[in-house]
Amino acid sequence: MDYQNKKSQPLKRKIIISFSIVMTIVIITIGYLTNIIFTSEFRKYVDKNNKYKSQNITSSLEKSYMHNRWDKRKLESIGEEALDNGIILSVYDANDNLVWSMYEYSNQSCHNTLNEIADNMNKIYPRWDGEYIEDKTPIYKGNELIGYKESGYYDEIYYMENEINFLKVINNFLLLVGILSVGSITVISVILSKKISKPIAKVSNMTKVIEAGNYKNKLVYSSNIKEVDDLISSINNLADTLGDQENLRKRLTTDIAHELRTPLTSIQGHLEAIIDGIWEPSEERLGSINDEVIRLSSLVNKLRDISSIENTESLSKEEVNLKELIKNIGYNMEINALDKNISISYELEDIVCMVDRGKFSQVIVNILSNAIKYTDKDGKVYVKLYKKDNKVMISIRDTGVGIAKKDLKYIFERFYRTDKSRSRETGGIGVGLTIAKKIVKLHDGDIYVNSEIGTGTEFIISIG
Ligand code: ADP
Repeated sequence: MDYQNKKSQPLKRKIIISFSIVMTIVIITIGYLTNIIFTSEFRKYVDKNNKYKSQNITSSLEKSYMHNRWDKRKLESIGEEALDNGIILSVYDANDNLVWSMYEYSNQSCHNTLNEIADNMNKIYPRWDGEYIEDKTPIYKGNELIGYKESGYYDEIYYMENEINFLKVINNFLLLVGILSVGSITVISVILSKKISKPIAKVSNMTKVIEAGNYKNKLVYSSNIKEVDDLISSINNLADTLGDQENLRKRLTTDIAHELRTPLTSIQGHLEAIIDGIWEPSEERLGSINDEVIRLSSLVNKLRDISSIENTESLSKEEVNLKELIKNIGYNMEINALDKNISISYELEDIVCMVDRGKFSQVIVNILSNAIKYTDKDGKVYVKLYKKDNKVMISIRDTGVGIAKKDLKYIFERFYRTDKSRSRETGGIGVGLTIAKKIVKLHDGDIYVNSEIGTGTEFIISIG
């Protein structure tokens, strides 16, 4: 089925776009706030500076007044400096007669300066509307009134050329920092998104490989991102598990086919020989056919058992004395053990537990019968029932053939047998442990195995 969302976008693009948008908004906001704060502080500074300059003009005028007269040359230089600061200066004597005026001195420069200020300010602040005003203040030298200073200037804050240039430099610097930040963030987001999206794309491709049934391929890639590396190792483990399951399934099909074919071939051979008149349908021959039919039906019964237990979800639990239950099963099996001179020893505590009597008996039967089946002549089987950490434990240990390490993880799988010829001899088809595990799990318990080839095997059941 195709679960792909048609609207979905590549991760890489999503990361780059989201990252860039967020960072651009952050940078613009920071830039905007910096600009507002800076401009307001700058205005305060310029305002203070203008007042200071105005005071300076007054004190320069005071100093230029000597021997009871105004020095015109000095007034010119004071007036030019005032003009440089956007102030049109006029000086009057104590009788209010005009002594010197910038307008008279250079009308053109006055207009040029005022126009320039208005143009520049309108460019920076379109809503700037400074009005030209003139104020006249007396000038004293000590206590003597020596004249009047008339200053003409714009009543709203205004910047002179050098201040505008300074503002331009600062704004350009902020812009440059902003552009560099956006640029470097875009580059970082591209690198980061590649780092994340590349392994994900690889994992995605790997899942397609797995989907196609190629479980042997492994994804060899390290992203240095823990979650992504975990994902890669999970995918590899998944491929391993699926590969194992696939092998088991193939093995299962051939095994079942083989198990069914062996008795069927034998029956067919016997019957053909009888039909062709080669053999008499004697009691012995018919008995042999019957044995094969019994084998076939026992096989089919086991298949039915496993499918029924695998579909069981509930148990009918009752209080069961496990010591008695195990002992009874042991006695019933003693005959098989005696055949091989195997001794079974018991170390059973008196434990009563809520279990499904029929099903739990089957667990003990399956494991104990395996212990006898896979133990050679004169071997030993030890059965122990005890409590550990409030759990009921049953250990069934034998001194038998043992299980190879490579087989250990599969023995609870359906139809898995380590030694087919031996199992067949002993009537096993590899479902006893699967059934046992399923029943123990239904009792909220677990089943463990320790084994060493040639030394023996121990199955431990824990419930409660
Ligand atoms: P089977 O019906 O073949 O005995 P089981 O599911 O009971 O199937 O066991 C699966 C396989 O595990 C067996 O074929 C055998 O190879 C191995 N096995 C189980 N119990 C023992 C044991 N006590 N000692 C050695 N091998 C065992």
